[in-house]
Amino acid sequence: MSKGVVMTKPTKEIKEACQELILDDKTMREIMKRFLHEIQLGLKKETHPAADIKCFITYVQDLPNGKEKGRFLALDLGGTNFRVLLIHLKGDSEFEMQSKIYAIPQSIMIGSGTQLFDHIAECLANFIKEHKLQNERLPLGFTFSFPLKQLGLTKGILIRWTKGFNCEGVVDRDVVELLEEALKRRGDVSIEICAILNDTTGTLMSCAWKNHNCKIGAIVGTGSNACYVERVENAELYDGPANGKEYVLINTEWGAFGDNGALDFIRTQYDREMDEFSINKGKQTVEKMISGMYMGELVRLALVRFTKEGLLFGGQGSDLLFKRYQFFTKYVSEIESDKPGTFFNCYDVLEEIGIFHATDEDCANVRYICECISSRAAHLSSAGIATLINKMNDPSVTVGVDGSVYRFHPKFHDLMMVKIRELVHDHIQFDIMLSEDGSGRGAALVAAVASRDAHE
Ligand code: BGC
Ligand code: MG
Repeated sequence: MSKGVVMTKPTKEIKEACQELILDDKTMREIMKRFLHEIQLGLKKETHPAADIKCFITYVQDLPNGKEKGRFLALDLGGTNFRVLLIHLKGDSEFEMQSKIYAIPQSIMIGSGTQLFDHIAECLANFIKEHKLQNERLPLGFTFSFPLKQLGLTKGILIRWTKGFNCEGVVDRDVVELLEEALKRRGDVSIEICAILNDTTGTLMSCAWKNHNCKIGAIVGTGSNACYVERVENAELYDGPANGKEYVLINTEWGAFGDNGALDFIRTQYDREMDEFSINKGKQTVEKMISGMYMGELVRLALVRFTKEGLLFGGQGSDLLFKRYQFFTKYVSEIESDKPGTFFNCYDVLEEIGIFHATDEDCANVRYICECISSRAAHLSSAGIATLINKMNDPSVTVGVDGSVYRFHPKFHDLMMVKIRELVHDHIQFDIMLSEDGSGRGAALVAAVASRDAHE
């Protein structure tokens, strides 16, 4: 068999039709300009209420120094899994961690807020019992990865749900209070919620613990967002204590970029259709172009279009191909992991969705479509990170990144390295590293730094 010897290339028709997914240099610069503008609107008191990129104050003002000690509980809600964690920080940047994943059924994700918080409280109670912690009152960090208007380290008002969650009665409420009420209803656990934080904040802290140069934490996972170190004087909404501290972490909530139309000039029919059928229509525009919750579906929409136009699979699809959300984001990573000229994973994926009649040329086209959509995601994240790096204008910065797309897509990291290098000022050095377990260890660090402060 000669399969795989000759490199089969995507067809001219597909390449032309995918051109709109490719962001050229001029477009990238324009996106960055708009990005920076939106960030500035978010930071300023007067323009904040109408701004898309909210730039919420986190009230985290100190980076860890590696000496943090103690045992902490953490809750992680809003990523791929809901988890309860027990973290033991031992000083000298050593730690131990135990954790357990709990399911959140779809019915709870779109049920009532009371149900959701009762469920979280129950999982926490079970975890505490399993680990025989009933008699200790451990401090808890709550990683709650949704847009929160924080009013302090332990007070955060939910602004909107994202990523498939839509629990009634939680928007505009303080989620710390909702969790405390649920714990009180049970009456069998005694914990102290020391901090509520975003996963990007946890990611930054977790990375900064070992790398003091880390000033940005970003997530490209189920959702997408970034957090960075800002000067207090630029954070006009900061109303914390006049403690003389120069910096505060800002949770940008960049996922909402484009909600006012700022990205309409690059959106495609796939983006519009995706949005049309989502549970948060008109919201989280750039997140829908970047993150793992949507990437597979964007590819699917393109595959459907080209199948109907007769450019793929001889014009014949399958039931699963035509079903929403049935082309998983992990397929994109698998397909792009095939060695050049081979399509083993691609054929496997296509068979999984019921397409048994694909040719090498179809596979080359499918892979090309995946590459266009994942590269666009990597480039949009790069535009965001480069904007933040240029804005901070420090000579050297480390960016801590986490999330399923960043971790599992075979080329995401490299694509970002190349693009960010193109976009940041020449005199700035930067590095991107995987920041492990921001939602767990990061939560413990925020709680630890907070208690370190309280005892100083
Ligand atoms: C949320 C952010 C979060 C991001 C990554 C977004 O949908 O709004 O708060 O940081 O997902 O988890
Ligand atoms: Mg996470």
